[in-house]
Amino acid sequence: MRRQLTTMVLLAVFGGSMYAAEKTRVDVYLSNRDDSSELLRPGKVVASAIFERIGVHLNWRSGGLPATQSAAGNGALQKAFGIRTLERAPESATGGALASARIVGLSGTEITVYEDRLQRFFGNHSNLARAGAGAGYVLAHELAHVMQGVARHSESGILKAQWSSSDFEEMVFHRLAFTNFDVELIHQGLVIQLANRRSESLADGSAGGLAAGGFPVSGSPAGSDLAKR
Ligand SMILES: [Zn+2]
Repeated sequence: MRRQLTTMVLLAVFGGSMYAAEKTRVDVYLSNRDDSSELLRPGKVVASAIFERIGVHLNWRSGGLPATQSAAGNGALQKAFGIRTLERAPESATGGALASARIVGLSGTEITVYEDRLQRFFGNHSNLARAGAGAGYVLAHELAHVMQGVARHSESGILKAQWSSSDFEEMVFHRLAFTNFDVELIHQGLVIQLANRRSESLADGSAGGLAAGGFPVSGSPAGSDLAKR
């Protein structure tokens, strides 16, 4: 009975969504050639729940982001994001950034997570390790950047540039959320990126078609360093 109750409460928390009727499906490739899986797998459930609430279904896959649509092997065009890990943040990385992002050929956007910085973040917030909250919110933050496709942060919520101590408390209870504007930009960004991908794949299967971006805001750094955090 107790267990049933818990399940019901979880469903109430994660299940209610204004977008429940039509979910946008997104492939997320977690690299199996580095420490991505070990570092971030504990956060998959939390990240998935965060996106389900705003009508985006994350379809987790293991491996690298396929270079072409046909290599991805799904007939229905679907937006894809990849996550890989570097042991050390490069010199060029913005101070304090946990990750950066870049566009890969026709297939989607790849997030590069900096393991040294992520380990430091986890070390400073060990209370977030339970149930993968820390990894889940980092995943949600980085994925939201690449879904929106623009380099920006919000004043509050998951896409805030610097989380505060009260934000971390909210994370422990899985209550930190996206702002309404962030939700809107995520859906807009996914629609635009999917439309670009569809027209590119109709026009030509060759690589590099999306390299210039096609993001809605001018001055977007063509996919590089989309995610400053
Ligand atoms: Zn950020």
